[in-house]
Amino acid sequence: MSELPATRVAIVGAGVMGAGIAQVFADAGLEVAVYDPDAAARGSAPARIATGLALLRRPAGPALSRLRVEADLAAAVEGAQLVVEAASERLDLKQRIFADLDDRTDAGVVLASNTSAFPITAIARDARRPERVIGTHFWNPPYLLPLVEVVQSAATTAATVAWTMRLLRDAGTEPVHVRTDLPGFVGNRLQHALKREAIALVAAGVCDAATVDLVTRHGFGARLGIVGPLEQSDLSGLELTLAIHEVLMPSLDRTATAHPYLVKKVHSGQTGAAVGQGFRRWAPGEADERRREVTRELVAAALRRREERSS
Ligand code: NAD
Repeated sequence: MSELPATRVAIVGAGVMGAGIAQVFADAGLEVAVYDPDAAARGSAPARIATGLALLRRPAGPALSRLRVEADLAAAVEGAQLVVEAASERLDLKQRIFADLDDRTDAGVVLASNTSAFPITAIARDARRPERVIGTHFWNPPYLLPLVEVVQSAATTAATVAWTMRLLRDAGTEPVHVRTDLPGFVGNRLQHALKREAIALVAAGVCDAATVDLVTRHGFGARLGIVGPLEQSDLSGLELTLAIHEVLMPSLDRTATAHPYLVKKVHSGQTGAAVGQGFRRWAPGEADERRREVTRELVAAALRRREERSS
């Protein structure tokens, strides 16, 4: 028997994230049941999980033998100690799912949402026991990016947080505790603060989008996966960060809404690689090639991490 603090989890939603999260838990040795009302999502989930396992050179057989795909929510959550909701990003849908889960599960079962942006408090609005509702924000794809933001709402108990953190750590992920239920948690706040300035620079004609990406990738971005921004400030000495902030802060973008340049792009149909034009132009086939390169690099990093953990 495994030493994990749980033996059985249920995933609600078998899309991109639901299947990826199911893979993480099944590969870690847990019994996993996945529910989705959509037959196509249910039908393709095992093959998508097998593809993810193959990328990581993991055998598919043992993990898939622990996976059940269910068309009935009650059957999926039966016996689960944790339920992770990864359904479409609609607040009314998530509120209904959590009210339903609250009714269908024993009081000790932890109910988690993988929402990208909705406050956990809002998602748990109709739950009678919001103290066991928590955020577990995995990143895409969950089997290649180890971070999970564990989000505590004002109602979530410390015991729920501690148990969830332990299970996620034992399942091989890197959980972090987010103590306040803020939109975007920590990761998306940081990521989109950077995007706000990036868009403002392009909108003002300071440089083009390709230059923003090159500056990021070949400059400070090359360091970010190794040393975080605050650790890097400590290493250089905070006097330097202070001196830079005194000059820079007044001129950074402070647009308090989605930037008008982004709004105009979307409204004029320049929505990105899928249509050949977003912040930059995309040739046919270029986006797929770029996605393959990104996956290759993420897989290499995930394999390196696994090797380091086992050595
Ligand atoms: P997706 O569209 O790939 O999958 C959503 C799935 O939910 C679909 O299979 C759909 O059939 C299913 N669904 C619809 N109604 C349902 C219901 N009542 N019960 C159960 N399932 C239902 O979306 P995704 O990208 O997997 O996103 C899922 C969640 O994860 C969203 O909250 C999203 O914001 C979040 N998230 C997404 C990413 C990402 O990069 N894709 C990253 C982090 C978090």
